[in-house]
Amino acid sequence: MIIQSIEFSGSFPRISACPRSEFLEFAFIGRSNVGKSSLINMLSNRKAIAKVSVTPGKTQLINFFKVNEGWHLVDLPGYGYARVNKKMLSSFTTMIKDYLSKRENLVNTFVLIDIRHDLQKADAEFLDWCGESQIPISIIFTKIDKISKQQIPIHIERINSKILQTWSELPPQFISSAVTNQGKEDILSYIESILSQVHATNH
Ligand code: GDP
Repeated sequence: MIIQSIEFSGSFPRISACPRSEFLEFAFIGRSNVGKSSLINMLSNRKAIAKVSVTPGKTQLINFFKVNEGWHLVDLPGYGYARVNKKMLSSFTTMIKDYLSKRENLVNTFVLIDIRHDLQKADAEFLDWCGESQIPISIIFTKIDKISKQQIPIHIERINSKILQTWSELPPQFISSAVTNQGKEDILSYIESILSQVHATNH
């Protein structure tokens, strides 16, 4: 699949404000600075459809983009940053968890993890919550251009061994670089395959 058209459809503060739609949704989430905006721009061949963040944690809205007049890409706010107060953090967590666990259009959530680092506490907690809540997720390891080719499987193995402390099997996984465009085709084909599976079941 190629993203031929992508247009911003709106930002919503909570699930009840999200529009009714027949489109299936693919959400993207990760710790602030993980490279989410860069990945969305890369997937959609745009320089700045998703803003590359300047102030971490500033966007706290659910952002919808209409893709190829056929599905919605949903850009969720980054989690796990220190600069918000407790009250903001809890309403923000509720907003994300509500959307992920209740939104019927949502078919897959891509959880982005920076390949360079060990699994962070915020990632582990978020993944565990997704597992317990049975949210269908896939993992994208970002910024793979920042480490050597040889290090890539070593880092993935290390992160996965942490995930497997609580998960019985690993969710689907992809690697990506917004610098080299690696991962783009795999991620888009995966989205396409889910879309055709769901459409085939519904018709
Ligand atoms: P967000 O906060 O998750 O949306 O992250 P951004 O997309 O704003 O990226 C955070 C920083 O990481 C920016 O300085 C990006 O240029 C950089 N970055 C993002 N993706 C990549 C990547 O794949 N490779 C490299 N080398 N840098 C990246």
